[in-house]
Amino acid sequence: MEFVKHPSPNYGFRRAGTEIDFIILHYTAMSTKKSLERLCDPVHEVSCHFLIDMFGTCYQLVDENKRAWHAGKSYWRGYKDLNSRSIGIELVNSGNEQFPEVQIKSLIMLLQHLLEVHKINPKNVLGHSDIAPSRKSDPGRWFNWKKLANYGVALFPEVSAPMGCDKQLFLNQAKRTGFDPDANFEDILRTFRNRCRPNFTGEFDGYDCALMQKFANSFNIDDSSNSQ
Ligand SMILES: [Zn+2]
Repeated sequence: MEFVKHPSPNYGFRRAGTEIDFIILHYTAMSTKKSLERLCDPVHEVSCHFLIDMFGTCYQLVDENKRAWHAGKSYWRGYKDLNSRSIGIELVNSGNEQFPEVQIKSLIMLLQHLLEVHKINPKNVLGHSDIAPSRKSDPGRWFNWKKLANYGVALFPEVSAPMGCDKQLFLNQAKRTGFDPDANFEDILRTFRNRCRPNFTGEFDGYDCALMQKFANSFNIDDSSNSQ
């Protein structure tokens, strides 16, 4: 896969003893030009490893072995320093629009490449909002997780029937999945729906519970390791 090199000075060293076992997806909420400027500006102290524009061009800003600054305060399955354990990919998108087919195609190719090279399990391809549900909403409700799952590069739970609607059970399953146990119910529900039920706006129901349980079960297939 070809990358356009666009080096950012904003990176550090990964914490000793950590492995790269997560990939975090973001949207930029600004144009390609502004995103590249910001992600390379030492004043802002933010960066990512890759950025994919709306035409599918993939820029590499930080070497995969270095620690880019994209996740911020975050949590997943007990891990808090997600920057040390992850590769960050930014997608140029406003947050209120479709992701062009060519951009998603490029993302899928990049994910296939990274999952293979770093032996990362597809379940560890996450959205920024998954690891920071109280602060972040990217990659947002327009992002098509189902398509990624069809290509085997992420998880997307589907169920055919609801189960009993139970808030506590939903939260317990969210915790099993990996969500921050300190995050509140509304934030987790919003984040989870953006990913799994993007067009549903009704009240909390038995499908939310069934989907979260399915999600938790898929995340716990292999508890011994985060890698394949
Ligand atoms: Zn983000």
